[in-house]
Amino acid sequence: MASAPARRLMLNESREAHALSVRSTAAKALETVQWLLSPDHDERDECDGFAHADSGYGPGHYAPWAVPAFPHVGCRCMLRRGAPMLPGVHPSR
Ligand SMILES: [Zn+2]
Repeated sequence: MASAPARRLMLNESREAHALSVRSTAAKALETVQWLLSPDHDERDECDGFAHADSGYGPGHYAPWAVPAFPHVGCRCMLRRGAPMLPGVHPSR
């Protein structure tokens, strides 16, 4: 079995690759990307804010090109394709 640091690095790289794929697919489909908060979070941190912030598409939903970067290695938050971005609806910020 891989060492803890190696496992952590592997999980992080896997998450980053998945996030890139989700953002790319959502951008082509003109869909939002939703931040899914990991249930592993013990304490509130930036991820809680990202999962609940409303950038104009609903809580936790972002334009594919405006998704925040994962703020720390080792968290297991994920991204998934969200809802269609309707023409004429823009973030309120
Ligand atoms: Zn997180």
